[in-house]
Formats: sequence, structure tokens, C-alpha cells
Amino acid sequence: MNDTVEKQTPEASQSIAFKAETRQILDILIHSLYTEREIFLRELISNASDALTRVDFEILTNRQVLDPEVELAIRLTPDPDENTLKIQDTGIGMTPDELIDNLGTIAHSGAQAFVAAAKEAGQNLTDIIGQFGVGFYSAFMVAEWIKVTSRSYRPDAQAASWFSKGDDTFTVEPAEKSGRGTDIVIKFKEDATEFLQEHRLRQIIRKHSDFIPYPIYFGDQDEQVNRKTALWRQNPKQIKTEEYEDFYKQLTLDIEPPLASSHMVIDAPVQMYAVLFVPTTKEHGVLSLRREDGLKLFARKVLIQEYCKDLLPEYFRFIQGVVDSEDLPLNVSRETIQSNRLMNQLKKLITSKVIDMLEKMAKDDLEKYERFWTGFGRYIKEGVAVEQVEPQALYPLLRFRTTTYPDRWSSLDDYLERMKPDQKDIYFILGDDERSVTYSPHLDLLRSHDYEVLTLTDAVDAFMIVRLNEYKEHTLVNVASATLDLPEIQPEQESEPTSTSQTDFSALIDRFKHHLGDRVADVRMTSRLTSSPARLVDPEGVPFQEVQRVYRMIQEDYEIPKKVLELNQHHNIITRMQSLSDDHPLNSLIIEQIFENALLVEGFHPDPVGMIPRLQQLIEQALP
Ligand code: ADP
Repeated sequence: MNDTVEKQTPEASQSIAFKAETRQILDILIHSLYTEREIFLRELISNASDALTRVDFEILTNRQVLDPEVELAIRLTPDPDENTLKIQDTGIGMTPDELIDNLGTIAHSGAQAFVAAAKEAGQNLTDIIGQFGVGFYSAFMVAEWIKVTSRSYRPDAQAASWFSKGDDTFTVEPAEKSGRGTDIVIKFKEDATEFLQEHRLRQIIRKHSDFIPYPIYFGDQDEQVNRKTALWRQNPKQIKTEEYEDFYKQLTLDIEPPLASSHMVIDAPVQMYAVLFVPTTKEHGVLSLRREDGLKLFARKVLIQEYCKDLLPEYFRFIQGVVDSEDLPLNVSRETIQSNRLMNQLKKLITSKVIDMLEKMAKDDLEKYERFWTGFGRYIKEGVAVEQVEPQALYPLLRFRTTTYPDRWSSLDDYLERMKPDQKDIYFILGDDERSVTYSPHLDLLRSHDYEVLTLTDAVDAFMIVRLNEYKEHTLVNVASATLDLPEIQPEQESEPTSTSQTDFSALIDRFKHHLGDRVADVRMTSRLTSSPARLVDPEGVPFQEVQRVYRMIQEDYEIPKKVLELNQHHNIITRMQSLSDDHPLNSLIIEQIFENALLVEGFHPDPVGMIPRLQQLIEQALP
């Protein structure tokens, strides 16, 4: 052993000790029970790819390169008889000195951090090895020995071989190699022969290295194993729509093309490439490659996380795509990823890009956007409900059914455009379904003013509307509010205006109160109704209706505050009830039915079928 090697081209074989940190790494790797040993191939292919990128640069800037014409590629050749795998590249290569430095005497870039993290993790190395990218040495998880033969791109450089069994030392000696680049031969351990199988190797490449921008070949075959190049690193101007669609299909194995795609190439404030997709359906097919939500995260073309959930807010979890940044360290682990400042910057950029992409879709292709809204609208509403920082950015994406256009999707801007000249607020009604909402007595007053009302019937709508209070300085107002700030309805001419307004309804009100008892908070007359005889509204001081709805959904035993029954003082039924005597048997039947009808239309009726006997009695009474 010789710790202080003089840097010189080896005349003959010389044995050199590994740097202390490297020995530690080797020790950890060789003795770990890490199960995803396949990542060694990812590391070696990634090194080869880097070497190819570097020589590519040399060829562009420097004519003095050995074999400038040779194809930039990676080739894998298993030899089952010898139990070896050869990984060749035509990259930048290494001089004998570089072999010594890079593969033994200079600490590997993340060595210290890796050793420290491994010590902390004890036996549980699973995350650490996968996340750190321990580089070349990871091959010792599967190798009995490794031989690296390399020739630098410098025309006068000599070839040399590096050899080690992963113990304390390695040897370097002169070698014969005609062409530029690096050949790595791995002799597999007894328990690692799976990596000789072509299908296994193909599988690993598809999984980890499919986006490597150079072709990977197999044995003497000319067919590329990695089908995908790093599309996201190419110039967006030169990529056709079909290429994005193909890429999407390969990423997800979805049958349908995406609804929209977006390509980001950004240099400042951070360097990032990203390709983002809006899928057509939210259901992943059975064959889908995507088992979880999240974006595929690469750092310098190396896959860091298959499902990164930290690059978009949760409500955009349906977005598919790939993000790649030169600025991310390869050692972003699951724990540190969230606190990484750079990740937050990326998240901001990507989130606003998704919003842009959706806004653009809405502008360019209404039909497409409506498809999107039908499938994913729920996620946008969820976003409005939970987004803390800038929920306003999501408002333009919202679509609504309205009383004026019940079969069409309208945006808030559409609504504003159609507002009546005297209208200030945006009105909405909450209900359980589109049909029952249209029967709501709360709409009477709005109809008489010819005001449009947003109809909100999704479970998530209550959560959304609790947060969505204002749009472009117009307040959103619930029409079920007892104190809606609108001019009340004037009685129609033919029904003797003076006498009606002065009618004393107190006896009738008492009759209602007497029958309903403590099932209502109060009974009173109103002039805010037209076609409906009565409605239920909240008394003052209780939470808003939308808040009550939210409580009802999250708290099973939530009791809805008692309501006030409002009677329509101009309605035929009510005015005619005035003339019934207090003890007439119809009183209780009608009062009960009016109350229950009002419950029904609010969606609160505990037992609709229970009305049947009473309805039969009413029919009997009505018959001559
Ligand atoms: P890292 O790639 O993180 O620097 P590695 O241990 O994987 O760490 O590799 C150490 C160094 O060896 C690399 O930085 C590179 O200079 C050199 N190297 C590894 N593989 C190759 C290769 N196939 N061709 C040229 N140089 C290589």
C-alpha cells in the first residue's frame, strides 16, 4: 500500500489505498441490506451520460478531441458465462491520473454527508442510498470486483485500467484501448446474477434512466433501449404537439392524450426544465404507470423522486409531468426536500404555470375547458377553500351553473358582464341538487328583480364559498339570508294595496306558533316572497348557512339551529287561511304541510315519506 502516490502514468500495476471516506462508503454499501440494489445501474449510466455531455461540449469548443466522429452512446453487454456486465460509453474518458483521483483518492462529492446520514440511520439505509446517489461505488453492492478501463478524449492520452474488489485498495495499470471513453466491467456476486438478464436490465433502464439524452444500446444490437430522450431539456419551439402527447403516454401509459401540456425552460431565478400535463380523466387506467400523485423529479437528469408531492399544492395533485433542475443537489432526501428553499421557488413557478395553462385552455378552447371542469372542477374548488396565500389566482378558473343558464358553465366574469345595471352583489344559492334548488323560495325576490343566481350544489361548494367572499369588489351574497339587501316586493295592483299592508296577521301567526311549538325559532310575515307561501330562514346570530353546511359535513351530530318560518303575506294560501276559524281541523294539516314543504326544499326533511298520510287527508278534504 502506498498512501502518497506521486501522480504519474503507471508504468506497471500499482496498488493504491482508497481515501478514508471512500473506504467508509464502501464498507456501508457492501454490508448494507439495501434491497433496491438495481440503482447501481442508474448511477453508472448517469456517470456515463455526464461523461458524454462533457465530451459533447469539448467537441463543440475544441477541435483536439480523439474520435470526434464516434457516436455518443452507452452500450451494455452482459456475459452470462463470465458472470459479468460491461457498461461502455464514448464519453470524455479519464487519464490514468484522473482514474486514480476520481475513483479512489479524492472524496466522492457527497461522501461526508452520506457517511454522516448513514451513521444516523443505523441499519435503515433504504432511503439514504436511494436518495443520495452514492455514485460509482454503489456498484460494489452487487460486484465481486470492478474493472474500469478508460481513455481520455485528449489525443495523446494513454489508456489505463482501474481494478478493485472493494476492499482497502485499488490498482491502476496501463491498458490497451483504441477508442475514446470508458468501459466498466462488473463481476457480479453470486446473489446478483439477476442483473445479467436482458429483460431485467431493460426494466431498470426504463424505470430509472429512460430520459437519459443519449442512446443506450444492448450487446451488439442497434436498437435503442431507452425510448425517451429528455424531451423537457429540448427547445420547446422544436417540439411538436404529437411529441408531447407521446411523451405523456409513455410517462403515464394513459390511452387518451392530455387535455393540455406546458413546457417550461427557466434560467432565473432558478434553473429549471419542466413539462406539465393536464390529463383528460382523473381515473388512472389499470395499466397506468403512475401509482401515486406527484411529479417526477430529476436533478441533473437523474431521477430523484418518482412521485414528488412538494412541487405543487395538494389541490393540483391531478397534474402529471416531469421537473428537472440543475440547481438541485442530488442528495435532496425526502426529509430535506420540503425545507429546501429551492424547492419552494420551483413550487411557486410551477403552480403559477399550471394556473396559466388552465386559463389559456379556458380562453382558447371552451369545450376542452368544460371537459376539464367536469372532471377536475372539484379540485379547483378545494383549492379556493384551502389555499392560504393567493386563492384569488384560482377564482378565474371557477365555473358555475346559474339560474339564468342552468345548462351552461359560466365564469364569474360572465356573471359580472350579465349583471343588471342596479345590481351590486353576486348572488348564490346553496342546495343539494340542481332541481330542488330551482324550487327554492329564496329565489322569489331575486326572480322579481330578474337577478341571476349562482347555484351551488356540490358538497365542496359550502367549503369554497366560506372563503370566497368577494370577486372584483363584488360581494358574494347568499340569497337564503333573511336580511338580503334588496327592495322588497310591492303587492300587485289588483290585491288592494292599502288594505293588505294593514292587515293584522297576529292571530294567524299565533296559530302557526301554537302548532309548531319549539320546532321553529319564530314565525313572521314577509314581503320577500312571491310564488312560495313560506320559507325558512336563519334567525339573527347563528352561523351563516354555508358554515352550517360545512359543520354538517364534518360533524355528524351537528344540530342545525332552529329556523324562522316566514309567511308570504300576499300568497293566496296564507290570506285565505286568515278566514279559517281557530279550531278548524284544516289548520293543523295545512300548517304542518307548509312547514314540512319548507323543510323539504331546504334539504332538511327527516322523513319525506312520512308526509303521505297527511297529504291523503288533505286530498280527502279537498274533494267535493
Ligand atoms: P460523482 O459522479 O457524484 O462525482 P462518482 O463516484 O460516481 O461521483 O464518480 C466520481 C468521478 O469519476 C466523476 O465525477 C467523474 O469525474 C468520474 N467518472 C465516473 N464515471 C465516469 C465515466 N463513465 N466517464 C468519465 N468519468 C467518469
